[in-house]
Amino acid sequence: MNILIMGPAGSGKGTMSERILEHFQIPHISTGDMFRENIKNQTELGLTAQKYINEGKLVPDSLTVAMVKDRINKDDCSAGYLLDGFPRSLPQAEALEEIAVNGKEVQIVLNLTVPFDKLVVRITGRRLCKQCGSIYHTLSHPSKVNGICDECGGELYQRPDDTVERLRVRMKEYEFTTKPVLDYYLKKGLVVDIDASLPVEEVWQQVKEALGK
Ligand code: AMP
Repeated sequence: MNILIMGPAGSGKGTMSERILEHFQIPHISTGDMFRENIKNQTELGLTAQKYINEGKLVPDSLTVAMVKDRINKDDCSAGYLLDGFPRSLPQAEALEEIAVNGKEVQIVLNLTVPFDKLVVRITGRRLCKQCGSIYHTLSHPSKVNGICDECGGELYQRPDDTVERLRVRMKEYEFTTKPVLDYYLKKGLVVDIDASLPVEEVWQQVKEALGK
């Protein structure tokens, strides 16, 4: 199945993506990850993309669309794909319509929603290990010793953008950019809203149900 997943930071998109990949055995196509991989390998695409990413800008559509087109036509996408981080604008959604043909069309859009006050709790309580990257939460998944990683003993820290103020800005940006994309797929009748404020297992049940249809 060809799936598009959408949701703001803190909606649990990463967790649901992992489960979908495992359950349906399809590749994860994250444009952000692909750019990071290209930057790491210093490819021509990576060098160009880096300039935009460093300035906090979107990579031009011509490059992004070509990269996605190439990726969804690879053999491992024959049973479907999970698209993440693309399309991020209406022109990208329209471009996807043109390149995703012959069985590559998006079939369902999972829209993970979480009320703002719940996102605040999730995001501001998040702590990461400086050494191994393990993720904790002060309320729902605290480390055994305050400020210290259970896995490696490293120091835990809070990401500087995991604050209410930054979250408010990120949410506004997210809504501003994704609304036209959501509306586009709503008109096509492809959007399934997932209440991602519930515990993980309940969210997963909703996702499985949506994909089972
Ligand atoms: P992400 O990890 O999805 O936040 O992506 C990291 C960066 O990659 C973004 O800030 C953009 O600069 C770039 N990027 C990722 N996806 C896209 C896209 N669909 N269109 C343009 N730029 C993108």
